[in-house]
Amino acid sequence: MTDTIDSLIAEIEAEYGIVAERIGKDKPDPRVLAALREVSRAEFVPADRRADAYANRPLPIGFGQTISQPFIVAVMSDMLALTPDSRVLEIGTGCGYQTAFLARLAKQAFTVEIVAELSAAAKGRLAALGVSNVEFRVGDGRQGWPEHAPYDAIIVTAAATGEIPPALLEQLKPGGRMVVPTGTSMLAQELILVTKDEGGRIAKRSLFPVAFVPLVKVRRA
Ligand code: SAH
Repeated sequence: MTDTIDSLIAEIEAEYGIVAERIGKDKPDPRVLAALREVSRAEFVPADRRADAYANRPLPIGFGQTISQPFIVAVMSDMLALTPDSRVLEIGTGCGYQTAFLARLAKQAFTVEIVAELSAAAKGRLAALGVSNVEFRVGDGRQGWPEHAPYDAIIVTAAATGEIPPALLEQLKPGGRMVVPTGTSMLAQELILVTKDEGGRIAKRSLFPVAFVPLVKVRRA
């Protein structure tokens, strides 16, 4: 059967049902659902992968990297509880698909990518789609982007293999939320929801197992 946006959304809704207890909700936020419909994933996958654009799985985008699974993009966006006033930091721009969600759900998005070519391609793609509230930076996202801190929300789309980078915890606003995959290998990762209360105290909650590429220290050749 060919995947369509309707079959994809039906699958995502079914998967929300599976993780409902862990994430505290059983269906996507209406604004996240609208983003799933309106951000065309086909624009973000390589031309020879367009036929699979609405399959609920990650796909290769070159440089050893991937475009995330749509269900994961939906849940991570949802867990940030963004409002039209939010300023959000993303680590791991990749192809820019998740970035496009953040741009729709927040006031402004800042996104950091370590592979210059991926950042440039994502910037071009979002400009072509008329998205103008995103700033791009090439560099090591484990340092965050201090010049624009603090952020209402931070999303990390590559796995932290040791501890959550301290710079990211620092750059989160009191009352803010962060989602970050952590774990030692792609077979042993979990998605963590980090919250910082008004007093600056950090709490962490494991949501469910995930498989992300690792946050790297230097870009690969
Ligand atoms: N957000 C993407 C998925 C990104 S895949 C989506 O919407 O599908 C993870 C990305 O993180 C890759 O592009 C990878 O190059 C990048 N990355 C890995 N380590 C990084 C680091 N230390 N700093 C910034 N980006 C990094």
